[in-house]
Amino acid sequence: MSTPILEIKGLHKSFGNLHVLKGIDFTVEPGERIAIIGGSGSGKSTFLRCMNFMEALSDGEIWLDGQRIGVERNGKVHYPEKQLCSVRERLGMVFQQFNLFPHMTVLQNVMEGLVTVKGLPKAEAQAIAIRELEKVGLSEKHDAWPGHLSGGQQQRVAIARALSMEPEILLFDEPTSSLDPELVGEVLRVIKQLAVEGRTMLLVTHELGFAYHFATKVIFLADGLFHEVGTPDEVLKAPQKAKTQDFLRRFGEFSF
Ligand code: ADP
Ligand code: MG
Repeated sequence: MSTPILEIKGLHKSFGNLHVLKGIDFTVEPGERIAIIGGSGSGKSTFLRCMNFMEALSDGEIWLDGQRIGVERNGKVHYPEKQLCSVRERLGMVFQQFNLFPHMTVLQNVMEGLVTVKGLPKAEAQAIAIRELEKVGLSEKHDAWPGHLSGGQQQRVAIARALSMEPEILLFDEPTSSLDPELVGEVLRVIKQLAVEGRTMLLVTHELGFAYHFATKVIFLADGLFHEVGTPDEVLKAPQKAKTQDFLRRFGEFSF
């Protein structure tokens, strides 16, 4: 078996007295596409945010390509900011609310990380940004302001921005949840294309029909743990646990 790209051991996360993640062990192999489903407030976003250190872990270890993140000193683990920046480059994140810079054009949004984080010369960054925007079908929008785009277009810019950094894993946190229904398809089509390319991805989503076709593995998160894990057929069509069954029932019929 190949070395996992990502390995998480005993991840706990609390906010004050609220114990959200209660000891999660998790491995991602190259090329896996993992859909994470679960009720609102179950900790899906927190899980993704811990993974790329946008939230500090309360306990646990994160390993990337066989290397532990953090430096142990006097029995305590420290996380040098430089190392965390590199982790965030390697795990590209796409948010529900796009998080584009409103005062920058589409092209500038995609170039920004390449220039400020990767330190590329502007011309090189621009060439990459143009290529990535073409991939998501937005070549016509280089000079547009994010505020003048539809939600679906803004999310595609955000995906181009994440892709431009050449992440090893893409993390999507409900990328279509804030979109009008008629705009969901254009974003899912881009994500589907990334799947065809063989990219390693984690997708938090309520689009169960899409998850069924997209994922190689589905995780149902409940009570701070991976309550049920399996193939899309196992978890979405024939869940074994009562809680998973209840959750899926609440979605009613969804089309595969
Ligand atoms: P999900 O994405 O599954 O809807 P979240 O990960 O956003 O859930 O939140 C899990 C729980 O942690 C919720 O109860 C939420 O209110 C709480 N939470 C999330 N972020 C914070 C924070 N920064 N401070 C305090 N509580 C938080
Ligand atoms: Mg969330």
